[in-house]
Amino acid sequence: MNYSLPELPYPYEALEPHYSEQMLRLHHGAHHKAYVDGLNKAETRLQEARKEGDFSLVKHWERELAFHGSGHMLHTLFWENMSPQGGGSPEGPAAKQIEKDLEGFEAFKKQFSAAAAALEGSGWVLLCWHKRFHRLMILTSEKHQNLTLWGAEPLLVLDMWEHAYYLQYHNKKADFIEAWWNLVNWDDVNRKLEEAY
Ligand code: MN
Repeated sequence: MNYSLPELPYPYEALEPHYSEQMLRLHHGAHHKAYVDGLNKAETRLQEARKEGDFSLVKHWERELAFHGSGHMLHTLFWENMSPQGGGSPEGPAAKQIEKDLEGFEAFKKQFSAAAAALEGSGWVLLCWHKRFHRLMILTSEKHQNLTLWGAEPLLVLDMWEHAYYLQYHNKKADFIEAWWNLVNWDDVNRKLEEAY
């Protein structure tokens, strides 16, 4: 149960000018790292509790497990979802499925951006494939783990915590969202969708 910080699939400066090197270094090296550490700690404390048969703090550590585990997972997807060669509109399975379930790419993009801009406080916007419902859905989360719809597999995620944009974009949330579309790695989204089907 030892989780580790994954390496980025590109150098820190690779997403410039849309995502600054300084912001990416901090976001990955400090923020994501803290979620990995928090997840390891929660797993360790729960293992100790099982060994000792002392579950007096189980509520606390279960919450920590959900928060840090979701933080670790979503950041891992977030890095994979971006590429210096990203942007544009999807082709292949993601394009077809978006057409079928979400009224096409332009409507999808508008809803996704609007949901991101409408978030209050810290959260994420997520394009998910729901295996049982057999359709795409755009969901949002508060923090990393609240408002989850069980069974929904995230394909494309956007971090809307202030630490994700404030250093470069300050209070201009809409500018960050617009710039981020230039980084979206649709090949990765297609790969994730094909794995999730
Ligand atoms: Mn983040």
